[in-house]
Amino acid sequence: MREIGHFIGGKHVAGTSGRISKVYNPATGEMQATVALASVEEIRAAVENAKAAQPKWAATNPQRRARVFFKFVELLNKNMDELATLLSKEHGKTVEDSKGDVIRGLEVCEFVCGIPHLQKGEFTEGAGPAIDMYSIRQPVGIGAGITPFNFPAMIPMWMFAPAIACGNAFILKPSERDPSVPLRLAELMIEAGLPAGILNVVNGDKAAVDAILTDPDIAAVSFVGSTPIARYVYGTAAMNGKRAQCFGGAKNHMIIMPDADMDQAVNALMGAGYGSAGERCMAVSVAVPVGEDTANRLVEKLVPKIESLRIGPYTDDKADLGPLVTKDAYNRVTGLIDRGVEEGAKLVVDGRGFKLQGYEDGYFVGGTLFDHVKPEMDIYKTEIFGPVLSVVRAKNYEEALDLPMKHEYGNGVAIYTRDGDAARDFASRINIGMIGVNVPIPVPLAYHSFGGWKASSFGDLNQHGTDSIKFWTRTKTITARWPSGIKDGAEFVMPTMK
Ligand code: NAD
Repeated sequence: MREIGHFIGGKHVAGTSGRISKVYNPATGEMQATVALASVEEIRAAVENAKAAQPKWAATNPQRRARVFFKFVELLNKNMDELATLLSKEHGKTVEDSKGDVIRGLEVCEFVCGIPHLQKGEFTEGAGPAIDMYSIRQPVGIGAGITPFNFPAMIPMWMFAPAIACGNAFILKPSERDPSVPLRLAELMIEAGLPAGILNVVNGDKAAVDAILTDPDIAAVSFVGSTPIARYVYGTAAMNGKRAQCFGGAKNHMIIMPDADMDQAVNALMGAGYGSAGERCMAVSVAVPVGEDTANRLVEKLVPKIESLRIGPYTDDKADLGPLVTKDAYNRVTGLIDRGVEEGAKLVVDGRGFKLQGYEDGYFVGGTLFDHVKPEMDIYKTEIFGPVLSVVRAKNYEEALDLPMKHEYGNGVAIYTRDGDAARDFASRINIGMIGVNVPIPVPLAYHSFGGWKASSFGDLNQHGTDSIKFWTRTKTITARWPSGIKDGAEFVMPTMK
């Protein structure tokens, strides 16, 4: 059995804590590896390596730091098939979808190739008599990232690429459910020329996370995962004096206006609702058709498409979606479908009985559709994180707008309409971080920033874009005077510009 350890100081090391977690192939239900769960001492070893390597890396000029990422991007492209297959084998998503996971991370690496420009400071000449004032962005020192299972390539890269490009060292604590790709990324970073100790990958669970959150040498923590843990990580990191950005769960709505192009809206819902088996924080899990006629037309068109979804293992290159990640996830999702039935929602397509010949022990759930879901139901309030779409019928636009506005989460939302006025009003009034207008999964590109509102995000700076450069650096402002010819006496009052 393969034993997955850690990557510390530029090399693979075996775990020493004696604690492990099991890694499964979600398509077959077979255990395929064990992963070591780090102790406090192992986190400390990673921090010591990071501490030793970081000053020299921070002093490396930004063009040279950028060149590591130019090379890394090249290596990601060269190894794309291998990375995507490795990812699918542990996560379960289709290989094409895994390529998307790698590419969305790669795009952030491309973005940080511009670090010489991105990290430039500000300068004011003549801020006072013979005074110049300038601000510089220095790395925070050692950053840490704690990542979820659903994007094991993209989210680690969203974190470590800007952090490292800014001159920090980094400790990555990936999800214990699919740990192989993050380790492979660390190997490729070394191949790209990154000095040993700058990127360390330490596998683990709560014990490793707590060791990170209380380590005195880690200055900033980025977290992506479920909301209860995001809230915990944010609070604990802040209490320990660390900068933190923590991104949580979601319940993303798509509003379908009566004038929407229905075929376009239905196709968008299929991809955004069922792609990756619904295990995306930007998946659409609630469709809100406006008016009875829109709702009837929507459901009528959705049903045959859901029934003909092709569900398969990652080795089936024609599959639309794969299994859920673990048996626990399977039990949770099917349990929530049971709950929806109990609550009185109309189960139009039931994915619970889905079985794939030859893969009977895999964690497959078929595409599921609920109609007549009400806001007070648990299946509406809870993030299901599975291939389950709920239709909540709204009488009019205001009622539709009210649903995502009042929901606990605020990650993404979309509106389908041909009415520019409605789209503009919607984008302006909604209290959600990422808005799609006729775009179902509005994940901003690498040079804009990603982040939700409300219970989907804790902290004030987003992932990637210029926010990430701010998050992984500290501003230092220097006021310098070279007073040749100026002869002042002592000043005892507060200097002002009056
Ligand atoms: P999770 O919260 O279970 O795990 C995330 C990370 O936290 C993992 O590294 C895990 O080891 C660690 N962790 C788990 N329990 C912990 C505990 N008690 N104390 C400390 N650390 C702990 O999330 P997941 O199931 O891996 O990922 C799915 C969730 O992530 C969904 O809620 C999804 O919406 C969310 N997500 C959000 C975004 C976003 O950008 N908002 C992106 C992707 C995923």
